Parts: sequence; C-alpha cells; structure tokens
Amino acid sequence: MRMKNEKTMFVCPQCGPFVIVYKEIWTQGSEGPYKIEFLQHIDGGATVIDEVSINTKPDGEPIAFSFCGQCKRLIDQEKCSNWLENQPSPF
Ligand SMILES: [Zn+2]
Repeated sequence: MRMKNEKTMFVCPQCGPFVIVYKEIWTQGSEGPYKIEFLQHIDGGATVIDEVSINTKPDGEPIAFSFCGQCKRLIDQEKCSNWLENQPSPF
C-alpha cells in the first residue's frame, strides 16, 4: 500500500517501537539545535505533535538527531517502510 504521506517510525533499542521521540534539528556548523520537535506515533506513523523553535534557522543543511523520550537514548535511524526503497524526492 502506498500512501503519499509516508510513515516513519522510531524504534528505541531499549524501549522498543512507538516511543515518544524528540528530535533536535541542527544545521552543519551550528552550535546548537535551532528547533526541537516532539513526535508521537499516531496510526503507526511518527507525527510531530509539538515543536519548539530556539533560533531562526541558520543557513545550511539541516541535521536531525532523534532521542527516545523515555530513556533519552539517541536513536540513529528512523525506520521508514517506503523511504528506503523509494528514494526519489517527492518534491
Ligand atoms: Zn528508550
């Protein structure tokens, strides 16, 4: 099944899938994140439920670090069912 809105899910190595996740969004060379997003799994897909802007977005490629909301562990890779096999940009 293909959905336009691709579903992403996070799996914490310690707490398992469907944890609450927070994401720090940095840019290359910046000294700290410019935004933090909070994600919850709704309907099997990670959905941003809240976000906090810290700074205006600096120039540069955004880099996201995802952490488990429960154990604060870094989650390296978000699993996405159709992203990996279907890389071409949706834009
Ligand atoms: Zn965890």
